[in-house]
Amino acid sequence: MESKKYLIETFGCQMNIHDSEKIAGMLRNLGYNETQEKSCADIIIFNTCCIRESAELKIMAKIGDIKALKKANKNLLVVVCGCMTQQKGMPETLKTKFPFINIIIGTHNLEELEEYIKKYEQTHKSFSDVWEKEKEIKEHTSVYRTSKFNAWVNIMYGCNNFCTYCIVPYVRGRERSRKLEDIKAEVQDLVSSNKYKTITLLGQNVNSYGLDFKDGKTNFVTLLKELSKIEGDFKIKFMTSHPKDFSFELVDFIASCDKMSKSIHLPVQSGSNNILKIMNRHYTIEHYKELVDRIYDKIPDATITTDIIVGFPGETDEDFIETCKLLEYVKYSGVFGFVYSKRRGTPAEKFDNQIPINIKRERITKLFEIQHAIVKTNSEQLIGKTLEVLIEDKIKNVFIGKTDAGKTIKIKNENLELGNFYKVKISKVLTNELVGEVIID
Ligand code: SF4
Repeated sequence: MESKKYLIETFGCQMNIHDSEKIAGMLRNLGYNETQEKSCADIIIFNTCCIRESAELKIMAKIGDIKALKKANKNLLVVVCGCMTQQKGMPETLKTKFPFINIIIGTHNLEELEEYIKKYEQTHKSFSDVWEKEKEIKEHTSVYRTSKFNAWVNIMYGCNNFCTYCIVPYVRGRERSRKLEDIKAEVQDLVSSNKYKTITLLGQNVNSYGLDFKDGKTNFVTLLKELSKIEGDFKIKFMTSHPKDFSFELVDFIASCDKMSKSIHLPVQSGSNNILKIMNRHYTIEHYKELVDRIYDKIPDATITTDIIVGFPGETDEDFIETCKLLEYVKYSGVFGFVYSKRRGTPAEKFDNQIPINIKRERITKLFEIQHAIVKTNSEQLIGKTLEVLIEDKIKNVFIGKTDAGKTIKIKNENLELGNFYKVKISKVLTNELVGEVIID
């Protein structure tokens, strides 16, 4: 008999991508296999995001598209989960707009999905169950990983920071850390499998890992020290960091440990102290620069990336100029720039000094122009340097690798093994990629 098929539509960040790997694990436990064709699916799951209003509209449209399929196949099971459903009133809105949805769950009870599907299969009664509050972390063993050499590992959930533009603390709850032993066991298994060469630790603010244990000894650096003791050829990355909690001790540990990636994502959001204050970010730009100086001083080959929001309510031309100056100061290897858009349910939604869209557009264009020139110069400076590269693919006789900072590099005519690290000397810089050759020690 042919197996039942699932299709998962994932929206949003790495956290959601990894949640979808957990969903896939649960579905496989129930005997489902993956399909890319909606018309072949027995179950369609929307793992949603609500970080921006536009994401929500897109998801609504995608769910609406299922109506015809559901009409043609009454047995099709439709599930909606993720951040969007966790918002107040959203399950009711979804039920009214799309009565054909069978199961609606929130972020706090994702791990129950396997049981919910079993329940539906027995009763054929649609239901919605969104828990208002987070419960104790349920350790999860069924993860069906989709990435090739990188494995995502949750180290904590939720956020306590309440930046005024952000919905995350309202839909993901307060910070809860996984036990160090559970994380270590998961990473040990992943490394032992010899499949994963990068372990990316996930959390909304990984720098506050362990603080909720209140034992006075567990923190993010303690965790990293333990993980780095695991034997094997792998790198540890993490995301996302909050500059107010990124300690000098952490910088020093990254500098001292070969297993730590030297590529650091340090979201600044704005270069202006006025705006940082209104955003409720709890650091100054002086502190941020001190942190950057420490990173470059202790880790000369570090690369730093960031997130920036332009056009936050009240942002003046002067504030924006401060952000542009910061770009020149840090010389980021990458900037994820966003135009501010109102997010329902956040304090900033009610700020009355919203910036007109044309000004926001001008600013983001300017920001990307400056950053583009910085990346060009950064890349040119790589010529002649030797970088550690993970070989991820081979197309004809060209190997494709990734540098620690995530840059694509092409290496010709070498006898290399996929999934291994090599030292590569950069010979050429093209628009979106590097060219190099392997150095034999
Ligand atoms: S730190 Fe701020 S931006 Fe990041 S998830 Fe928490 S509230 Fe949102």
